[in-house]
Amino acid sequence: MTKADVAVRPTPRARVQEMKEYHPPLGNRDAMRLDFNENTIACSPKVKEVLGRISAGALTRYPEREPVERIVAEHLGVAAEQLVLTNGVDEAIHVLFETFLDDGDELLLPVPTYTMYEVYASATDARAVTVQAAEDLQFPFERLLSAITPRTKIIAIANPNSPSGSVATRQQIVEIARRAPDAVVLVDEAYFHFFGETVMDMVGSVPNLMVARTFSKAYGLAGLRLGVLAGPVELMKWVRRVLSPYSVNSLALACLPAALEDTEYLDWYVGEVLAARTEFEAALDELKIRRWPSRANFVLVEIGAKHKEFVRLMSAGGVLVRDRSNDPGCNGCVRITIGTREQMREAVSVLKRTMMEIRSEGSK
Ligand code: PMP
Repeated sequence: MTKADVAVRPTPRARVQEMKEYHPPLGNRDAMRLDFNENTIACSPKVKEVLGRISAGALTRYPEREPVERIVAEHLGVAAEQLVLTNGVDEAIHVLFETFLDDGDELLLPVPTYTMYEVYASATDARAVTVQAAEDLQFPFERLLSAITPRTKIIAIANPNSPSGSVATRQQIVEIARRAPDAVVLVDEAYFHFFGETVMDMVGSVPNLMVARTFSKAYGLAGLRLGVLAGPVELMKWVRRVLSPYSVNSLALACLPAALEDTEYLDWYVGEVLAARTEFEAALDELKIRRWPSRANFVLVEIGAKHKEFVRLMSAGGVLVRDRSNDPGCNGCVRITIGTREQMREAVSVLKRTMMEIRSEGSK
């Protein structure tokens, strides 16, 4: 039996007291995982080999980030001083917000978007200003430009965006950076590999541009927690002060070079997902399920009032999907990650049964 707490006196900061709790549904996921936009199969076998060779002695040492940062910088075509490795892009976002967001500052966010931006902003003294996308969920470029103020300190753009799968163009990003010279423009390229377009090459030449990448998606290393943040040396200098020198663990660092080298595996997985997405979108159209065009490894669909039941029935059929109904402008919507063609064919058969059940109930 656990003992109850005695009366506790210390209180957290006011902003922390106001924070909402956020509990993504990470439990009981032994099924087809089409819920978190992860790689749905495995990481590269070359990475697995490296993991198998790690000695007990190696684990006694603190990790050293810099040599691996040099390898990643070379791979991304930036200077080592322009880049840090982080404990997932989540840590990059957290550290960036802690570094730049002060009392009175504004974080500008096109929504719907990745949930953690608002979570980390709510722990700072800044205010999150959201810019709602229209019904087509396309990037709200003009409205975002009009929302820029002298207080705008960070503009966070997930590109491709989640949960919509929509994208911002390079020209739009450059224009936003030009119109908000006192703000950091963070372009979060978590889903880059499925999209193929990047602004990484403009790091250093656009003075307020920062770009994030993750190893959690196409590379299949979500469990290792590895992210990258790149930006001009002047800005990275401040980020480095806040970032822990210990936060990226040695297993992740050991695996990273093998993950980068195995381009054959990465290309195979991305190709498989893109082919599966085309097939899956055709199946959605055939079933007359409304969907938004996606450039990432997931598709947002509109299920309507029965979205909760839909998620439950899909899960009972062995396929996990993610209810996004609470996201702004996504009422009745569910996000479905794209896996391999084989997986998605199975998902379609569960989807067909689920829709039949939901629709027949509707006509009862
Ligand atoms: N950015 C976006 C847009 C995401 O969707 C996610 C993951 N869901 C992340 C960042 C977080 O990535 P990581 O696992 O590297 O923390």
